[in-house]
Amino acid sequence: MGLLAGKKTLVTGASKGIGRSIALKFAKEGADVAFTYLSSVEQAQALEEELAAFGGQVLAVRSDASDFEAAQGLIAESLKAFGTLDVLVNNAGITKDNLLMRMSEEDFDRVLKVNLNSIFNTTKAVIRPMMKQKAGSIINISSVVGVKGNAGQANYAASKAGIIGFTKSTALELGSRNIRCNALAPGFIETEMTDRLDEATVQGWRDGIPMKRGGSPDEVADACVFLASDMSTYISGQVLNVCGAMLT
Ligand code: NAP
Repeated sequence: MGLLAGKKTLVTGASKGIGRSIALKFAKEGADVAFTYLSSVEQAQALEEELAAFGGQVLAVRSDASDFEAAQGLIAESLKAFGTLDVLVNNAGITKDNLLMRMSEEDFDRVLKVNLNSIFNTTKAVIRPMMKQKAGSIINISSVVGVKGNAGQANYAASKAGIIGFTKSTALELGSRNIRCNALAPGFIETEMTDRLDEATVQGWRDGIPMKRGGSPDEVADACVFLASDMSTYISGQVLNVCGAMLT
């Protein structure tokens, strides 16, 4: 039996990268998986088919994580399909990097809205049903950049640091209802998001990591399976760095 057998899960932003790996690992471990996407329609369709092959229920929803009303609809649709939701993974995220001198207000606001407001949007919608069932695991994908900061990513770092404060507060508020909330802080994970960086920057990141390599989406997904599963029932309010010892 898989680690997530019978669990009803929702992963935001799963058409690519880390979210895609999380959705696939969840399905492989026996979970029913709802997932969202926004612009990558073909990749989402392909993922839907791959997930269905594991035999569980699958729900693909095109939904903008930054839109509050859409998030309420998304949770309602997932509950309608699955009956309950045991696990919510807030993974959807973007970067709009620039030095502060050149960063526009629009790029600051958009990154905050997609990366941070999105977590409020879905968490707000999911806590009532989780409180009713007296169980739930919420996993928010932050970043080591949210702990440490990063030149050229003030908007992104602010959003990821905000996620950590939000995660800890949620854990404190909802612990008595047996709802756990943790953050994962990946380091440098090689995905399409990081493909957009130039090769010299990428090599610089790799050289600075004690394990001398970037991580893979599957390595983040493994940590996510742990936090979603009953292997972590007394772990809440924590930030787990998945970073090859980049941040200790
Ligand atoms: P990615 O390959 O660019 O994938 C991002 C995913 O988020 C896509 O599926 C995308 O969907 C979705 N998304 C973006 N905006 C959305 C929106 N408004 N509504 C719904 N979905 C949206 O990125 P990744 O590297 O896998 O990153 C995933 C998460 O890990 C992010 O939160 C990121 O900040 C975090 N992270 C990544 C790294 C890294 O090194 N890669 C490190 C630390 C943290 P569409 O393509 O369908 O729009």
